[in-house]
Amino acid sequence: MSAAEMNAPPAATLYNRVCVIGLGLIGSSLLRCLMNDRGLAAEVVACDRSDAVRARVAELGIADRVEADATLAVAGADLVVLCTPVGAYADVAALIGPHLAPGSTLSDVGSVKQAVVRDVSPHVPDGVHFVPGHPLAGTEHSGPDAGFKELFRGRWLILTPPPGTDAGAVDRLGRLWAACGSQIEVMDPSHHDQVLAITSHLPHLIAYTIVGTATDLEETTKSEVIRFSASGFRDFTRIAASDPVMWRDIFLNNREAVLEMIQRFTEDLTALQRAIRWGEGDKLLDLFTRTRAIRRSIIDAKQA
Ligand code: NAP
Repeated sequence: MSAAEMNAPPAATLYNRVCVIGLGLIGSSLLRCLMNDRGLAAEVVACDRSDAVRARVAELGIADRVEADATLAVAGADLVVLCTPVGAYADVAALIGPHLAPGSTLSDVGSVKQAVVRDVSPHVPDGVHFVPGHPLAGTEHSGPDAGFKELFRGRWLILTPPPGTDAGAVDRLGRLWAACGSQIEVMDPSHHDQVLAITSHLPHLIAYTIVGTATDLEETTKSEVIRFSASGFRDFTRIAASDPVMWRDIFLNNREAVLEMIQRFTEDLTALQRAIRWGEGDKLLDLFTRTRAIRRSIIDAKQA
């Protein structure tokens, strides 16, 4: 029997054995989807380095098997999905690489894609399909209790397979995410990083900055910024409550695209500053009218 035949799932399921490594918000949400739809994986294996997280996942019953050792967890799996923070990918990939089954697919959910290809590709053995992915779904919460099976519903899932990747492997992974409720898009990793730098990474950076500035201001002026926070500021505090390790890794791993967006944003902010200084209300009105229309188009696209 060939390696491909050995890895072919029974007709009833999309994959034989799916292994999820990193059982936080995203990993545990994926586990819940897999356990909810038994047509996706005959066996669901979960792996995390944290004793407490593994115990909680076992208690929640959102995997068939929970493993501490990543090399044992990936053995015999025909799909492995990395769901740790991106900064841990290189070490995890180096550890599991030699244990990945021939014909299997290695994927991930990382929020940046060029750095993931750089860090993981060298550890992917010949005969294993590497299909990076990114669900554009999340909350500011972390850990296995934060996950829920509806997280990916109606959200984009971007796949960034390197050139020459087996089309069947990409299609099969896309079908798994579609069954989780996602809309699938295939993109070049650098294009993904540019798009996400402005739509996700810069907004988070701005939120971290505003909340930091307000907190410092409260300390120095003894004014009650937090106590009287209005809705605009409150929205920023929600975004700025996102996981610190994950966001550190995102900024360090999408440096060029983020720096370019900060430059453009700074120029636009300076133009607004000038309009306010010189009382140019028409410029303010023009921008605010355009941005209001963008909000409406996002609502129409059901992404709000
Ligand atoms: P999370 O809730 O913080 O969970 C990450 C889990 O991975 C933690 O249990 C962590 O354990 C574990 N972990 C860390 N290093 C590990 C290692 N070497 N081996 C095994 N497990 C390890 O994170 P998340 O929010 O789910 O994010 C996970 C990934 O999804 C990231 O790559 C992120 O870029 C991506 N993503 C996140 C969002 C979002 O909104 N959160 C959205 C889209 C994509 P410890 O607690 O011991 O560190």
